[in-house]
Amino acid sequence: MSVLYPKVVFIGLGLIASSMALAMRAANLCEVIVGHARSKETRDVALEIGLVDAVFADPIAAVQDADLVVLALPVGAMGEMAALIGPHLKAGTTVTDVGSVKVAVILAVQPHLPVNVHFIPGHPIAGTEFSGPRSGFARLFQGRWWLLTPHPEVDTQAFARLCELCRKMGAKVDQMDAAHHDLVLAVTSHTPHLIAYTMVGVADDLGRVTDSEVIQYSAAGFRDFTRIASSDPTMWRDVFLNNKEATLEILGRFTDELAQLQNAIRLGDGAHLHAYFTRTRAIRRNIIDAGQDTSAANFGRDAKETTTKS
Ligand code: NAP
Repeated sequence: MSVLYPKVVFIGLGLIASSMALAMRAANLCEVIVGHARSKETRDVALEIGLVDAVFADPIAAVQDADLVVLALPVGAMGEMAALIGPHLKAGTTVTDVGSVKVAVILAVQPHLPVNVHFIPGHPIAGTEFSGPRSGFARLFQGRWWLLTPHPEVDTQAFARLCELCRKMGAKVDQMDAAHHDLVLAVTSHTPHLIAYTMVGVADDLGRVTDSEVIQYSAAGFRDFTRIASSDPTMWRDVFLNNKEATLEILGRFTDELAQLQNAIRLGDGAHLHAYFTRTRAIRRNIIDAGQDTSAANFGRDAKETTTKS
């Protein structure tokens, strides 16, 4: 395969950056990978496990002569980082980000980048609950969507090249308006995370009352919530603070529907509950048919590992 960007620089060396670095190396999509992370520990690990050819404590030193810069840090830190590195980018460099929110990132980053740099915001819809440079794996993006939210006047060659990179890392690429992206992700990712955080918090309060029964008799549904709710606190704090309107809009709808279900339970309205659960079951089928999840029971996990007491 051909090299798409001779020198790639990752700002932030966590799950997404490390997965991208491994995927790029596996497909020979670049010649040199350079990184910057905040802590010495992360920088040392990234170098030790071969994610990067060089690391720099100073982001300005890292981006020298870069062909592609990937902002792979929490969305709340991207604007300040762009202000720091913007004046040091060479003409023609492509800058992308992998942030889970798009409008706020564009508003924070774009003003700091020179006009001769191509900023193409992006978001791979792929991840796990793990963080840091050791958590990455090359297949993370296989068959997953990579959403790009470019400005309408984006340089078409730069855009085509970034699309090719995403595809060669295994992803399917789609283009979307940034505000629409934020609304869609509020439904599919951000609000579900908030609900998981809340449910685990409620169970934790109960756990104190019931002397750890919540953990001991944890059923599959609750364990899935705990997996989601163990995601990085900084990343998710920044997601909610930066996708405020869309998340509040969807949360409002959620609480309305929850109140209706609450009422149906109170009134013994089984028909309402059954109809509602039948509709939601069909959504799971659609996700499987779209190739976005496995049809195997319990997400294909080994039955022995997942036996519950419920
Ligand atoms: P991660 O594993 O937690 O890694 C974050 C990296 O950013 C670390 O290397 C950290 O450095 C660095 N960092 C944090 N704050 C910084 C700052 N102020 N200055 C410089 N470096 C800083 O994060 P991730 O999961 O890869 O997420 C990165 C981005 O991808 C986020 O914007 C997130 O919204 C997005 N995203 C995440 C997922 C997911 O499932 N995790 C999926 C799609 C998109 P230290 O280690 O030195 O602290």
